[in-house]
Amino acid sequence: MKYTNRQKILIVDDEPLNISIVAEILRDEYDLLVATNGEKVLQIVSSDPKPDLILLDIMMPGMNGFEVAKVLKKNPDTVNIPIIFLTAKHDNESIVKGFELGAVDFVSKPFQKEELLARLKNTLQIFNLRNALNRALEKSQQYAKTIESQMRLIDKNIIISSTDLEGKIIEVSDAFCKISGYSKEKLIGKMHRILRHPDMPSSLFMKLWETITNGETWHGEIKNKTKNGSFYWLDILIYPIVDDLGNKSGYTAISQNITDKKRVEELSVTDQLTQLHNRMYLENSFSKEIKRAKRYNHSFAVIMLDIDHFKEVNDTYGHDVGDNVLVGISKILSEHIRETDILGRWGGEEFLIICPHTSTSEAYALAEKLRVSIETHPIDVIGHKCCSFGVSAFDLKDETYKEVVKHADEALYTAKNNGRNQVIQYTLNPS
Ligand code: GH3
Ligand code: MG
Ligand code: MG
Repeated sequence: MKYTNRQKILIVDDEPLNISIVAEILRDEYDLLVATNGEKVLQIVSSDPKPDLILLDIMMPGMNGFEVAKVLKKNPDTVNIPIIFLTAKHDNESIVKGFELGAVDFVSKPFQKEELLARLKNTLQIFNLRNALNRALEKSQQYAKTIESQMRLIDKNIIISSTDLEGKIIEVSDAFCKISGYSKEKLIGKMHRILRHPDMPSSLFMKLWETITNGETWHGEIKNKTKNGSFYWLDILIYPIVDDLGNKSGYTAISQNITDKKRVEELSVTDQLTQLHNRMYLENSFSKEIKRAKRYNHSFAVIMLDIDHFKEVNDTYGHDVGDNVLVGISKILSEHIRETDILGRWGGEEFLIICPHTSTSEAYALAEKLRVSIETHPIDVIGHKCCSFGVSAFDLKDETYKEVVKHADEALYTAKNNGRNQVIQYTLNPS
């Protein structure tokens, strides 16, 4: 069959002469189908493509035009085909009945060619528009459905929160509620900072706010507090929400749960007995500190300490008591260092503290404070224990931590030799 863009008109009349008169008028502009009785009409419309319009005679033997229209309007497949009655009957009753049956227009026989063409064109135009509208509506309903189901998936699986410009929560996803332990009602209207974990430095949030208030996107890792006091880690992307007028109206955060990854990371840099940082962490910290020291031209100090006569503890009370002493001393150290100091277990019963932006004399004072704290602190089972300390400063000319650690170790060795329980500061020519 030849492909054509032309619209298809079905001409129905029991009188073949009438059909040929109408066909003559329409032939140039439309593709034509013809039927001389109602049964033939039903047969034609039951196969595709269906006619775009039917010009339907009323008075026909067998099924008359009204009966044909009735059947067509009952069938969902044909209900939308516009029908124009083409008839010699133009009494009011017939016209009303025709419209009631769903006709869109009437053309009386005999008719003017121009009138028939104009009415046909008009009807087709209205129906083409209506069909286009229906198709667009159907499409947009489908889109809405797809978006709705995608939104449900997002809500369930993606951790999202939105706040106003001050950080007050406006919207949260189900996934956000699930991980934080709060219900939607409990979160909406509250400040986002209720989720802040005390482990997070306030400097991080200052930087975060500085970034997003500048209209930029912030990306980073944050440890949050759940409703029941435990924690979770998020990899967060926060970006400003901009309204139609281009004004910033708030912020949206899209996050990924990285708690497990953080746990593994923490395990790999934590000493399992004392829960202090391990040697690997200290070594990595040295690299960062060296970079920082060189950039700001300000050195850092190192304190190395070793428990005095620790072997005796193991020998006298057993290894478990020895372990407890290591844990006890770790606690004292953690409680007395400054927030910026980096403390870790260097190995065995040796600990190391990196003191950023600190002179040797300041580090000496800190070490002395630690020495006294340990000496005076009662320790279970064994009573008291002392430590010896070596203090040194990083030489900005050095490239690695080897030298500064060697110097601290040498000072520590001197402290041991001098009778233990003391702090020695490294000097170039130790006496
Ligand atoms: P000094 O004052 O010269 O440092 O004497 P010290 O006895 O402390 O030193 P030494 O190096 O002779 O002994 C250190 C001991 O620490 C030996 C080792 O078994 C013990 N030690 C090392 N790590 C651990 C540990 O994890 N747990 C226990 N219980 N003991 C440990
Ligand atoms: Mg020792
Ligand atoms: Mg030792």
